[in-house]
Amino acid sequence: MEKFELLQPKGLREAVLALAEGDADRSTMVLAGGQDLLTEMKEHLAEPSLVVDISGLPQLAGIGEVKDGSIRLGANATIAQIAGHPRLRADLPILTEAADSIASPQIRSVATLGGNLNQRPRCWYYRNEEAFCLKKGGSVCYAAEGMNKYNAILGGGPSYIVHPSDMAPALIALDARVQLVGPDGDREVALADYYTLPSDGPMTSETVRANGEIVVDVIVPPQPQGLRSTYLKFKERESYDWALASVALAVVMDGGVVRHARMSLGGVAPKPWTVDVQGVLAGRPVNDETVAKVADLALDGAKALAHNGYKIPLTRGLIARAFQQLS
Ligand SMILES: Cc1cc2nc3c(=O)[nH]c(=O)nc-3n(C[C@H](O)[C@H](O)[C@H](O)COP(=O)(O)OP(=O)(O)OC[C@H]3O[C@@H](n4cnc5c(N)ncnc54)[C@H](O)[C@@H]3O)c2cc1C
Repeated sequence: MEKFELLQPKGLREAVLALAEGDADRSTMVLAGGQDLLTEMKEHLAEPSLVVDISGLPQLAGIGEVKDGSIRLGANATIAQIAGHPRLRADLPILTEAADSIASPQIRSVATLGGNLNQRPRCWYYRNEEAFCLKKGGSVCYAAEGMNKYNAILGGGPSYIVHPSDMAPALIALDARVQLVGPDGDREVALADYYTLPSDGPMTSETVRANGEIVVDVIVPPQPQGLRSTYLKFKERESYDWALASVALAVVMDGGVVRHARMSLGGVAPKPWTVDVQGVLAGRPVNDETVAKVADLALDGAKALAHNGYKIPLTRGLIARAFQQLS
């Protein structure tokens, strides 16, 4: 790891001003729980000269209800706090199931929501310090022709990374929004619109987060009455692992037909893959025919690389299982 300076700012303003100085070239970076950033620094994937430690900022802490019935999840809420929150477990199991599926108890107790949403991609080549791949500013995506068992089947090209966050698809299925604070003020972005594809550019980023901006919290709006939700994740091994594929599904059934449905997929694309299923499902029952239509829609345009074709039937199977569980 290279030497760096550590700033522990007294307030959010000091943090964003310090970050703005070197955010564009990643010479200044935000540190929350450190579970991704410190690994990146040890492996020379990130080499900031200044690290801004936001873990002590009170504005980013906590989980609570807002006046209009929305739920506010502070960016520094840990994954363990989300997993263990009784109201979330009762009303929005999609969030606690996603949180439960992440890493190990030790990691969940320090990893934060903000860090989870902003963690860098998974790809053997991106994570290998010896490979100067497209994602790191090189000219070749080695995964396209190389070891691509874990890479994207949707939305890939010219880079085939996958976005690894489990919290992001679950929150997108609840129509959550992120609140950002930066040197020029604050703004709110739908989480579904927060992520970008490699083809959107720039290649070295996965989000629309601007220089100096910090995610302060995530707002989950009030959900339609009768909402049922689940997060299903398939991993290669029983212990901690990232998703090979995952499905976040939230539905409201009314008299045997679907009234509301939102779905997002994880582990299959360079960003959480939101599928607009409302049109295919609204007013229709959940049966083999409608579930097959949803899976067709979700996988429309899917393109397997040499070693990841298994993700297509795997995702179909997870979609079917999620509907089976909720209908
Ligand atoms: C062994 C292992 C297994 C894992 N398994 C999973 C898994 O199954 N599923 C999963 O989803 N994740 C998994 N992770 C990733 C882990 O959940 C995330 O790395 C973690 O949530 C990051 O949180 P952190 O607070 O430690 O972030 P940090 O490491 O501090 O930061 C991560 C990134 O986010 C940026 N960042 C942090 N907070 C903010 C903010 N508020 N605003 C803007 N940018 C910010 C940082 O600059 C950095 O680039 C795993 C990690 C490990 C080490």
